[in-house]
Amino acid sequence: HSRQVTARLKAALHAHHLEERFQVDNTGCHGFCEQGPLVIIEPEGILYCRVREEDVEAIVTEHLEQGRLVERLLYQDPVTKEKIAAYNQIKFYRQQSRHVLKNCGHINPENIDAYLAVEGYQGLKKALALPREEVINIIKESGLRGRGGAGFPTGLKWEYTFKAPGDRKYVVCNADEGDPGAFMDRSVLEGDPHAVLEGMLIAAYAIGAREGYIYVRAEYPLAVQRLRIALAQARERGFCGERILGTDFSCELYIREGAGAFVCGEETALLASIQGERGMPRPRPPFPARQGLWGQPTNINNVETYANVPLILRRGAGWYASLGTEKSKGTKIFALTGKVKNTGLVEVPMGITLREIIFNIGGGILEDRGFKAVQIGGPSGGCLPAEHLDLPVDYDSLTAAGAMMGSGGLVVMDDSTCMVEVARFFLNFTQAESCGKCTPCREGIQQMLAILTRITRGQGREGDLEQLERLARVIKGTALCGLGQTAPNPVLSTLRYFRAEYEAHIRDHR
Ligand code: SF4
Repeated sequence: HSRQVTARLKAALHAHHLEERFQVDNTGCHGFCEQGPLVIIEPEGILYCRVREEDVEAIVTEHLEQGRLVERLLYQDPVTKEKIAAYNQIKFYRQQSRHVLKNCGHINPENIDAYLAVEGYQGLKKALALPREEVINIIKESGLRGRGGAGFPTGLKWEYTFKAPGDRKYVVCNADEGDPGAFMDRSVLEGDPHAVLEGMLIAAYAIGAREGYIYVRAEYPLAVQRLRIALAQARERGFCGERILGTDFSCELYIREGAGAFVCGEETALLASIQGERGMPRPRPPFPARQGLWGQPTNINNVETYANVPLILRRGAGWYASLGTEKSKGTKIFALTGKVKNTGLVEVPMGITLREIIFNIGGGILEDRGFKAVQIGGPSGGCLPAEHLDLPVDYDSLTAAGAMMGSGGLVVMDDSTCMVEVARFFLNFTQAESCGKCTPCREGIQQMLAILTRITRGQGREGDLEQLERLARVIKGTALCGLGQTAPNPVLSTLRYFRAEYEAHIRDHR
């Protein structure tokens, strides 16, 4: 629909001889999926929602020619029924802290000048004027932790790679986002690709790499296309390639398209895939910081982590560290989906509660039904019940509650959801995506899935739940990579918080 609306807008501007005064820009995702396609009139920031082709004429004649708002396309607050014109007055946006997503939906991602106009590549410029160690220190002081799942301190990872012996070093961007319901990285790549490139170039300079790879799934064609355009423009303007910005620092970045195997999001499998081998994990240590691509020290971060880096360089480690909690700094992007009114992409400070995300920003549960659980962290994460709604969203609190930050999927479930089915859905996903290299994951997950399937079919037996827990413990403790080690989490968390549902399934069908 967006493409058709864009084409119609351009045609209407032409027909009304307004091309000199107004310009149509295609941006990346604005985050408010529920209300799309969106048209924003800048600089006023007027938001038109659910715009269809046939609405375009009204926007052009009423708004652009006569200066009147097109009332029927304005956002209506679901509670107060008030029509709100400026997007930054809408609760969904007002309660977010959009720093990483600041440019998404506002600048044309295919035009480097649009990025430069919002201080683009200033972070790189600043970094290149500093000693490498100083850049690493800034990232360490900022408290930035990896946004891909585990939350490892980014500055420390850079330091390990910097200090690791090796003639050639590499930077790699993990853009192999594959969690069901997650589209954070995709939106950043589509909406602000230069921010990711800039973050990678700063990392490359800091660790002493002259080469880098962005491993992005081929199922994200628009992200790949925009990355290609951004990379070509960055090269042309001297931000990438030989003697960047006239300094002695040279770095070339390349794009590698992944074929859609979930396991390739695991860093050692990802590296194998870049090298042209089958994407299978290998034991760690050695960690990629010492032996990564072609056996050389390699720094791997995900899209969101890199997109944070230019901000930190530009605004300072102190500013960044002032956002979030003591141990989880900055903001986090979540893909808010499921039975929530405002589905979309949200960026919030670390430490915000689940309740604030789901009920304030998300607008509450669809059809005002009861909240049952939220699945956080994708197939590696867990399901948290209502008593955890006031849990602060940070790495450590989530882990203690049996979930994890993961990459940022947040699937909300209402009181009609069967939690055993939810656990089966996620386990089915990991079982299908298991690479089969190690026995606990290959065989164990299949066994767990078989038990869950028979429970959901009303054929559960006595001792099934204990058997599920035993298998989960073994798999977590012995699987080779993160995929297997975390696969039992959705089952364990639902058993922990919704055990009665499992028991009812078994009892009621006996
Ligand atoms: Fe492959 Fe699963 Fe073993 Fe990871 S844990 S290496 S995905 S079989």
